[in-house]
Amino acid sequence: MENENITNNEVVSKNFIENEIDKDLASGKYKEVITRFPPEPNGYLHIGHAKSILLNYSLATKYNGSFHMRFDDTNPVKEDEEYVNSILEDVNWLGAKYDGEVLYASDYFDKMFECACLLIKKGKAFVCDLSQDQIREYKGDFNNPGKNSPYRDRSIEENLKLFNEMKEGKYKDGEKVLRAKIDMSSPNINMRDPVIYTIKHISHHRTGDKWCIYPMYDFAHPLEDAIEHITHSICTLEFEDHRPLYEWVVNECEFKNPPRQIEFAKLYLTNVVTGKRYIKKLVEDKIVDGWDDPRLVTIAALRRRGYTKEAIKMFVELAGVSKANSSCDLAMLEYCIREDLKLKVPRIMAIIDPIELEIENYDGSIEELEIDNNMENKELGKRKIKFGKNLYIERDDFMIDPPKKYFRLFVGNEVRLMGAYIIKATRYDTDANGNVTKVYATYDKETKSGSSGSDRKVKGTIHFVEKSSAIPVAIRLYENLVDEEKGKLNEDGTLNLNPNSLTIKNGFLESCMNTAKNGQSFQFVRSGYFTVDTKDSTDKNLVINRIVSLKSSFSLDKK
Ligand code: ATP
Ligand code: MG
Repeated sequence: MENENITNNEVVSKNFIENEIDKDLASGKYKEVITRFPPEPNGYLHIGHAKSILLNYSLATKYNGSFHMRFDDTNPVKEDEEYVNSILEDVNWLGAKYDGEVLYASDYFDKMFECACLLIKKGKAFVCDLSQDQIREYKGDFNNPGKNSPYRDRSIEENLKLFNEMKEGKYKDGEKVLRAKIDMSSPNINMRDPVIYTIKHISHHRTGDKWCIYPMYDFAHPLEDAIEHITHSICTLEFEDHRPLYEWVVNECEFKNPPRQIEFAKLYLTNVVTGKRYIKKLVEDKIVDGWDDPRLVTIAALRRRGYTKEAIKMFVELAGVSKANSSCDLAMLEYCIREDLKLKVPRIMAIIDPIELEIENYDGSIEELEIDNNMENKELGKRKIKFGKNLYIERDDFMIDPPKKYFRLFVGNEVRLMGAYIIKATRYDTDANGNVTKVYATYDKETKSGSSGSDRKVKGTIHFVEKSSAIPVAIRLYENLVDEEKGKLNEDGTLNLNPNSLTIKNGFLESCMNTAKNGQSFQFVRSGYFTVDTKDSTDKNLVINRIVSLKSSFSLDKK
């Protein structure tokens, strides 16, 4: 936050991009603000893209400008219709409303070709016959200037003829390229006669076989922005060194009032796989269940995991916009979803690792008790829960040999069953391995919650689910996909995977969950936030994802 403006007695902090936009509007450089989100349709979007989407969209909104949704589909090799659809679904889900139609860079191929011809006519581009390896070799490096290509001085006529022949399919892939003619001794390697068109005899997902030459990113991207009259082309830091080339392209192609590139730092999450390349590999190797596996941080995966767009927005805002690369803790993202769901969703009882509890002095009837859906938000109303002689409780709410300060159930101890009665454990059964299978207890019928006898205090409260009405459920508990202790990557560059990233528990839910819909979220009391899986859950076989546990290692004060 660099500058603070006071409007209507409110302090509004602006990020550095907004400060730049303010200057451009004040100087008259631009009269409006037009931003864009330009993904390459070669994978699903992830949390980093969400930052870029929300940033570009919010700038357009704040300045009453426009926001374009444009596919940067200039490389036919890796692109796919599936990705186009998933990207649009994610952008819409995030609520980033783009102006007008969805735009495609491939619609500008004719215009880009014209721009290339213009460069040739100005003596600013030439057809080069060097191989890829030779071009690299001639390029020099950080310490050594490059060498001119022997084809650099071809005549304009010859260049135009050859470039047209490239377009008409006369040459094989790699036989010739078109290069900008800039400066082989520039300290900025990007300016050393960069390749701007290559030959690829490949069908494109939208233009089919119309083209066999395709523009390179550094040439295509500035043109796409300029054609759409983008004012502020916001991109990530690795493109800072490409900015002079961006400016060269829009200026040499003679665009009036061309866009301006501004870079910000990418969003990284510590110990989390965000790169599209890695995610793609995990999907292809079937280590995860598709691009929306809830352990990933693609937007589709976060949505399936139960993250809300409000939580993602809060996270992106907390992370801020900066000019220096840094990495955010996953705990901050988890903090945001807890904050968002805290008052929004009902708190219900679920048993994740069940053992049975029998109340021996209770008759066989089933009683209905009324409890608040969310103690902190009375607006969510109340619901009925069932109580009876046979219940399920969590395995770790009973101990045979409890340590000091264990206030839950052990033989001889009393606890309150949440929303119900005080009970006292009397005995238990074990299996052949000594694991507890069932606990027996007696209840004090004068202590029903909400009754006059309910003031009797005991130190512990545990939750339960009545057995005959309980809904069986598969509960998926997630941990980080990579091993946090040993670090994300192995020495050979492969991902160091955590073998326990997914655990499936067979638990029980209280009967109200029979109306739960796919994608609906809940707090399971004393445990965490959970959502009904949108892909695998059915009425008969309920599947639930843990979004996040209640325990937190992050607070805003610590930030
Ligand atoms: P990845 O590096 O994960 O493969 P990418 O940069 O290749 O992603 P694009 O489709 O080219 O993905 O990116 C679309 C837009 O999203 C670009 O403007 C890019 O700068 C931005 N973007 C990509 N990753 C991040 C990130 N981690 N944080 C912020 N913005 C990002
Ligand atoms: Mg990219």
